Amino acid sequence: MPSVRRQFLSPIAAMALLLCSCAPNQCGHRPPAAPIEPSQTATSDSPKIVNEPTIRVRIGRQSQRLTIEGPDRVTIKAEPDQTVIVPTPLDLARGHGGWYNHGRALFPSASDRLELQPLGGNILNVDNRPYPGRIVLTAVSPSAFDVINHVKLETYLPGVLERELYDRWHVGAYQAQAVAARSYALACLFETPHRAHDVEDTQASQAYAGFSNNSKARQAVLDTRGVVLSYRDRVIKAYYSSTCGGAGLSPTEAFGVNGPPPLSPHQPCRWCDGTKHDRWSTITRPRSTLEKRLAAYGRFHRLPIKDLTRIKGIAIAERNRFDRPTRFVVTDQSGKRHLLRAESFRHACNWSDPSAGLSPPPHRMRLGSSFFNVTLTGNRVSFTDGRGLGHGVGLCQFGANRMAAQGTDPMDILRFYYHGASIERAY
Ligand SMILES: [Zn+2]
Repeated sequence: MPSVRRQFLSPIAAMALLLCSCAPNQCGHRPPAAPIEPSQTATSDSPKIVNEPTIRVRIGRQSQRLTIEGPDRVTIKAEPDQTVIVPTPLDLARGHGGWYNHGRALFPSASDRLELQPLGGNILNVDNRPYPGRIVLTAVSPSAFDVINHVKLETYLPGVLERELYDRWHVGAYQAQAVAARSYALACLFETPHRAHDVEDTQASQAYAGFSNNSKARQAVLDTRGVVLSYRDRVIKAYYSSTCGGAGLSPTEAFGVNGPPPLSPHQPCRWCDGTKHDRWSTITRPRSTLEKRLAAYGRFHRLPIKDLTRIKGIAIAERNRFDRPTRFVVTDQSGKRHLLRAESFRHACNWSDPSAGLSPPPHRMRLGSSFFNVTLTGNRVSFTDGRGLGHGVGLCQFGANRMAAQGTDPMDILRFYYHGASIERAY
């Protein structure tokens, strides 16, 4: 998990106002509540957000082949200085350090980077999925490349909302999610200048569908254009997850990274009570397999638990002030005590390593969150009283949807889950 860095907002003259997308006489929510606070003056040596930025989303990893369809023709720019216009469809591949289209060499000289832009249209179909913006292929080996979508932030966001929220969810939840996702993306953008991409298109960052025709998602992004969460003039990395199960974690508790105060839970969440993932059934696993998973996790992360022997004890070691476990301890027969952050413990319990004969646990056996009790009985480990889905930092999506459905203004939803954050326009 990358560290949470600090970003800076430009001074903001305009007060942002959320516009409800419902017709006034059909709208169940209150009008936007408090005005959005203008930011303080940004420091002069800070990156300033003055225009809508472009975000670089990695949509393919270690690819060897790719099909591109779209408008009739595509401009392909290869570094350092070659441009060709090629008719579609393309069947691109990389081999021997070069690029090929339909099996024929594309450029006379080698290049590690290709940039593809549609001619006479805005959308490229990459392996049958539509994407707005440009597609950049970056070589990662003589025969493989990453696929990165360079897209304007406001064009990117509907594709996030489409994947992150259910179709039937309330428009207010979409608006709150749009602000959180925009803030998260902007924070990532400043973290990664040294990399070829800013975010992944998976839940490692935030899920992304590519071009989205989802009218609710598009309208929510439009309604909140440029609006972000900040704290002391810095955009906050507004983490969110599916269901907190009644209490969240801070970034320090969940990931071991520092975060500003608005990312720490301020009070229990009653809003996701009784929703789909609020409680989960007891999961029982064989002790021996769990030992292998924990040790494999330790080997991968170079932690002392890589030397775990037979488990003699397993328990919650610490809880936060909302009674949610923050650390678990595993004691082995040699007497060693292995202390793991709750989220690390969850990932370790779900760990797979095909080279060690450990396939991923079946879906029904996966730990969906780190909010549970754990007991060892003989050769079986039971995970009981399971609550929630996801890491539990920041906004609780199921909670946000219920708040919106009950008429809470989207800005107040954000104030609840990111207590103390300012809400303002970045551009
Ligand atoms: Zn919740």
